[in-house]
Amino acid sequence: MVFTHGSPSAKVPDGEVLLEVAVVLPLADIFTYRNSHGGAPLALGSQVVVPFGRRNVTGFVVGHAQASVASTGKGVREILEVVGAGPALDRAVLELCQWASSYYLAPLGEVLNAALPSGERASAARRVRLTGPGQAAVAEVNPSGLAAMALDAGDRAFMARLKKARTLSLTGIVRTSVAESSRVNFLVERGFVEIADTIRGAKRRRGAPDENTNAGVAQPEPHPTLNACQRDAFTALLAALGQGYATFVLQGITGSGKTEVYLRIIAEARKRGLGALVLVPEIALTPQLAARFRARFGDDVAVLHSGLPAGERAAAWRRLRRGEVGIAVGARSAVFAPVCDLAVVVVDEEHDGSFKQEDGFRYNARDVAVMRASLGRAIAILGSATPCLETYRNVVLGRFTRLLLPVRANPVAAKRPLPPVEIIDLRRHQLGPDGLLSPPLALAVDQALAAGEQTILFLNRRGFSTFVHCMACGHVLRCNDCAVSLTLHQARGRLLCHYCGRAEPVHDTCPVCKARSLEGMGSGTERVETLVRQRFPKARVARLDRDSAVSGRGQLEAFLDRVHRREIDILVGTQMVTKGHDFGGVTLVGILQPDQGIHLPDFRASERAFQIMEQVAGRAGRGESPGRILVQTYNPEHAAIRFLQQHDYEGFVQDELAHREEAQYPPYARMVVLRLDGTDAAAVREAASAAAARARSVADSAVRVLGPSEAPIARLRGRARFQVWLSSNDRGKLLTVTRTTQRVSLPRGVRLEVDVDPQSVL
Ligand code: ADP
Ligand code: ZN
Repeated sequence: MVFTHGSPSAKVPDGEVLLEVAVVLPLADIFTYRNSHGGAPLALGSQVVVPFGRRNVTGFVVGHAQASVASTGKGVREILEVVGAGPALDRAVLELCQWASSYYLAPLGEVLNAALPSGERASAARRVRLTGPGQAAVAEVNPSGLAAMALDAGDRAFMARLKKARTLSLTGIVRTSVAESSRVNFLVERGFVEIADTIRGAKRRRGAPDENTNAGVAQPEPHPTLNACQRDAFTALLAALGQGYATFVLQGITGSGKTEVYLRIIAEARKRGLGALVLVPEIALTPQLAARFRARFGDDVAVLHSGLPAGERAAAWRRLRRGEVGIAVGARSAVFAPVCDLAVVVVDEEHDGSFKQEDGFRYNARDVAVMRASLGRAIAILGSATPCLETYRNVVLGRFTRLLLPVRANPVAAKRPLPPVEIIDLRRHQLGPDGLLSPPLALAVDQALAAGEQTILFLNRRGFSTFVHCMACGHVLRCNDCAVSLTLHQARGRLLCHYCGRAEPVHDTCPVCKARSLEGMGSGTERVETLVRQRFPKARVARLDRDSAVSGRGQLEAFLDRVHRREIDILVGTQMVTKGHDFGGVTLVGILQPDQGIHLPDFRASERAFQIMEQVAGRAGRGESPGRILVQTYNPEHAAIRFLQQHDYEGFVQDELAHREEAQYPPYARMVVLRLDGTDAAAVREAASAAAARARSVADSAVRVLGPSEAPIARLRGRARFQVWLSSNDRGKLLTVTRTTQRVSLPRGVRLEVDVDPQSVL
């Protein structure tokens, strides 16, 4: 359906029920509309199409208002369309979104839109199409009209393309080509082309065969008898189930059987007809976890992940909504899944950074999950071997209850302490000829191979060389659009920007001095794989990272199966190898170069390094044979390494908390970062100064304002970036300052985004 005009506004009779609509636009305000055709007022959460200014947009009904002479004096416009038969969002999710909108200072309409799977969203897009004269001009072979004669070959080619496509997305054009968008402007002025709003209703696609329906075929899993610690944890959860809101932190070392505890408490909730929501980081990377839920609950589980085709995702979502399925398992955005009678909310690996949405509506799904439990009087369970410091602090403050699982669940592994961590001080041990493996680590790999045991080598950088420079002039190859160096991916024969995805062919002459002396520096997993193959020619070596060919559906499962069947001796990988895999044959874990991660310019660098090292260390010695962990480092005295050596989470946290308190970083202060960007660096810098000045003018001593400063990645996708940081112990004051600053007027082309509780400093 295409609308080109909104309906005219009209006077509304006193007492008529008006609709308050949150439109899907970056606007904080709620707008009032009438629906004079309908009988009963539209339910809250209904998706509608409304006229807005000169265009039409989608929105959601979020309130009802009684019309009064005062409110209707200026006339109220009529909604254009109601999308779908019932409300798109249920009350619980609507309420959650209202909270999220006010907490994250995000426009309610955009939050609500993000809560719907794309297959359920109506969309309003600005599209370009030919006018009558435009059609005529394209048809003419020898243009006679004066106006048409002004068209050049490019205009004609564009119009021919437009005729074939019927319409083209205006945003698409604006995004891809400056020349083309100025061409559109020209053609609009001449009357050959017009811009219209197109509303596409939520599609009821039938979709591909649904992986969520043939679920019952999974292998039934035997239920182990809970060990004493698991039983205590389960008992505490059971006592709280159905008794209102409470949050528990299930702190269990890797392999301690946390998942088993989730399964048991959810089974209990299902017995009572109550629903459950399970959030996991990057579900596409952890197929076994979804498989375990499948094995236990069969068809009662809806697995939601971004790898699913939109139609399938929407179908799973609708089954939850109708209460046909009681358990939702998914990544970040599943926190908004319409689970009925929600009683248990699980966030597995709660410390994981992927719970933070880093663009558009920025939220942390872990925190939203806790709020969802709170609003819905459910229990929340945050599981991790290394809870984040914010969560730890909430335990100390008595807001969360901690449940500990200090031993491994596998009865054989439980008899042993966690595998020892050996530190290889690289200041004393030279790296071998390949510059990667120190003699002690190489020896350990040889020993593992001889014993028929498996090894994991972990390096958190993908690609072959992490940068390429010219040996003659020192020039470093950089992305044209971002202020970062390009990574060499040798197998693909490409230089890649890891921030915007830009790919360039590999060349051998320096673009600056023309010398043929470009050389790759720094090692990524691809290089490690190559060198390990050379060094251990008899070993079966495989690599797991985002570049390795295991991205398709089912391929990762097949790959992990090969590791389980011990068809792989040495597994090289990025943090993809750390994700909860339970490989019985792995006895050796080598951590190659943690130093770069430790020294990132980020106050959470140390915490993240500790968490990820503990997680990868946890892959060793889970089966029959004991494990060992070797860490090669230039910084053996760094806290993240020292405490890792003792597997001493508690010690690490105390040490780190002291630093955070001293510097007044989270969890001792709340932070907000205002991110400004635009193509014109000077304009962005100026806008950032104005924003900082505005913040300072309203902040009292309780709110610290830092900046403006250029972002560590000063340019991304061709846009210059600046930041203003705000922090305070007083959340209310912090938000007041943020709200005021947010309204600073911005020059054209400069964008300001608010990031509440930022996770990234980049
Ligand atoms: P976590 O989630 O804490 O990493 P898992 O739940 O994956 O740990 O458990 C690790 C392994 O121990 C799995 O293979 C699981 O089946 C097994 N397991 C869990 N609980 C028990 C138990 N009580 N007895 C025996 N094995 C168990
Ligand atoms: Zn780039």
